[in-house]
Amino acid sequence: MSTLRFNALKTALSRTPVLTKAPSDKVSDFYNSNVFNDNAMKNFLSKEAYEAVSRAVKMSEKIDRVHADAVASGMKNWAMSRGVTHYTHWFQPLTGATAEKHDAFFEPTEEGRSMEKFSGGALVQQEPDASSFPNGGIRNTFEARGYTAWDPSSPAFIMEESNGKTLCIPTIFVAYTGEALDFKAPLLKALHAAEKAVVSVCSSYFDKNVTKASISLGIEQEYFLIDEAMYYARPDLMLTGRTLLGHAPEKGQQLDDHYFGSIPPRVHDFMVDYETEAYKLGIPLKTRHNEVAPGQFECAPNFEEANLAVDHNQLLMDLMEKVSQRHGLKVLLHEKPFAGVNGSGKHNNWSLITNTGINLLSPTKNPETNIQFLTFFVNAVKAVNDNADLLRASIASASNDHRLGANEAPPAIMSIFIGSQMTNVLDSILNDKSSAKVNTKSKQAINVIKIPDILLDNTDRNRTSPFAFTGNKFEFRAVGSSANCANAMIVLNTVMADQLNKFKVEVDALIKKGKTKNEAILTILKAYYKASKNILFEGNGYSDEWVKEAVKRGLSNVKTTPEALNAYVSKQSTELFIRNNIFSKIELDARYEIMQEVYVKKIDIEAKTISQLAISHVVPAAVEYQSKLAINVQALKGAGLSKTTYETQLKTIEVISKHIKTICDNVDKLLVETDKAHHAADTHKTALIFCHKVKPLFDNVRAASDALEFIVDDTLWQLPKYREMLFIK
Ligand code: ADP
Ligand code: MG
Repeated sequence: MSTLRFNALKTALSRTPVLTKAPSDKVSDFYNSNVFNDNAMKNFLSKEAYEAVSRAVKMSEKIDRVHADAVASGMKNWAMSRGVTHYTHWFQPLTGATAEKHDAFFEPTEEGRSMEKFSGGALVQQEPDASSFPNGGIRNTFEARGYTAWDPSSPAFIMEESNGKTLCIPTIFVAYTGEALDFKAPLLKALHAAEKAVVSVCSSYFDKNVTKASISLGIEQEYFLIDEAMYYARPDLMLTGRTLLGHAPEKGQQLDDHYFGSIPPRVHDFMVDYETEAYKLGIPLKTRHNEVAPGQFECAPNFEEANLAVDHNQLLMDLMEKVSQRHGLKVLLHEKPFAGVNGSGKHNNWSLITNTGINLLSPTKNPETNIQFLTFFVNAVKAVNDNADLLRASIASASNDHRLGANEAPPAIMSIFIGSQMTNVLDSILNDKSSAKVNTKSKQAINVIKIPDILLDNTDRNRTSPFAFTGNKFEFRAVGSSANCANAMIVLNTVMADQLNKFKVEVDALIKKGKTKNEAILTILKAYYKASKNILFEGNGYSDEWVKEAVKRGLSNVKTTPEALNAYVSKQSTELFIRNNIFSKIELDARYEIMQEVYVKKIDIEAKTISQLAISHVVPAAVEYQSKLAINVQALKGAGLSKTTYETQLKTIEVISKHIKTICDNVDKLLVETDKAHHAADTHKTALIFCHKVKPLFDNVRAASDALEFIVDDTLWQLPKYREMLFIK
């Protein structure tokens, strides 16, 4: 009997809930306790050091060495008072994961003594080996220096493990020659560009008191949970994050009985546990629920300043992975761990907020008269319209390819949903219709006795749109669940900054020609609205009609990553990034190379894994079952029984042979195509072969393997089945 799968099942079924205790029943008692936040800084820093950090955060001022030493010393005292022994720069290289290298505070001194030390120099910068991280050729190994540099706008925090605590200092990661090698450096630049543009437009036309703006971001995170034993019995999940084989279970998500269902106790324990850890780190988690697919869940925090929100999301993914182990569970962040049921995304809720407390994407009661809101709303629409391909590129990855356009997540066609209310408002104001037809449909009272009046808001929802207006923010819904959101946010904020800067130039030109401010603004907004109409779509984004309609409208529908990524290095995008100081040409080319390379490596690993699994797990099980059948046929024949008694067995033997042959033939082809891919002229061409020649062969292997899974004696099957991974909780 197969041992791998049945041992996993036994382990999974014998689990008992793991209860962990939060430091207090009240979250506010321990929220932020592991963060060097304002409060901790006030207690542990001198007045001058505190003010230096405050200025750095609020006014982007540089901190000098004297103050850095003082901050480091206070930070060390705070950390040591909480039992910390080590520190690390914490950064986000282009691997997609976070990176850390721990150093002890402890330092030996002469005569066998020692002391705990942490200098301003160590706080401000470290020197990891840049060539060991993806760098797209920027750093050769012989000159491999890279620097991490402190980002004071994201507070230092303490990462707790069961046997020690580490002070983590969020940093950017750049090459010796200054090029960015991470996500954070360009993100900070893009956010800065957007903030500057917002302030410029606001203070020139609407409110002189606007001197600062911030970009807000709330990231909803979807994920799957399976038993850890199942995970380790599936080499494909371990090595690629998704199941490359597996017959669909008889029951999937057809009954819609998982979404918002009651949360299974083991899962609940896990959620409470990682939420507790997240709260200590100041991650403001607010919502938890079951998602659509069996075994799928979601959490969402309150929104925060975008740089912090991205750090927190990266930290959260790391936390969830660590905490899930305590519960004998494994969290799967891959966009599509299971074929045939929904995949996971990460909705990026994005808005612009001024220092005067105004959410610039919030329409207030009368959007018709709110020209400030209209300005930012229409500019956002125009920015997305003009850079749709680049936004598509910003969410492209080998794993997200399974989701986009797969009729369950937003399609690969970029479109914007704005809802009927905003459509009416824009049509009436910007098309000169006399009166706005504001949608009052949803304002109807709920006529159920004893139910108090509730506010029905006017914003409708469209779950099929990749970029939707949801009342007071835009929601970029096509981002992948495993992605670092910085990629999407770098692009979105850059295109918004650029758009607002263009807007300002155009409006000023009209004012100079004698138009009033409002006339000038409305004239430009009208033109933008007209120019962006093609990308506005209110219908079902999953439908075939939309795909056809999009062709008519001339919208792109780039289905695969190697092609989508080309938008990063188009003439338009290159100029955009350079004009706004986000990437130099060298940085952009390097990043493009890295992204193509990552794609190649991912598919290459999948090709090797599926071949290995099919040959060493699936075929042997099939052969063993086939032999059993053959022996059975022999026996029946030998006993002189008629052909009808073993006809079915004979047929099954033939079917099994056919599937085995399909698997072996396709595995051979995989080797041939993979080899060709590796000999292509450049990385992009290699990626194209992997995408269009190698990957389609997976489907053939899978179809044969899944057919065998359906036939072969269950006790001989080595790999945990979908029903076991999805439904055991
Ligand atoms: P839904 O959009 O599903 O109705 P919510 O309104 O609760 O749900 O918002 C979902 C996410 O959007 C949350 O993370 C929330 O913090 C975030 N969000 C709400 N308002 C803003 C805003 N002004 N800017 C950015 N994110 C926001
Ligand atoms: Mg959701």
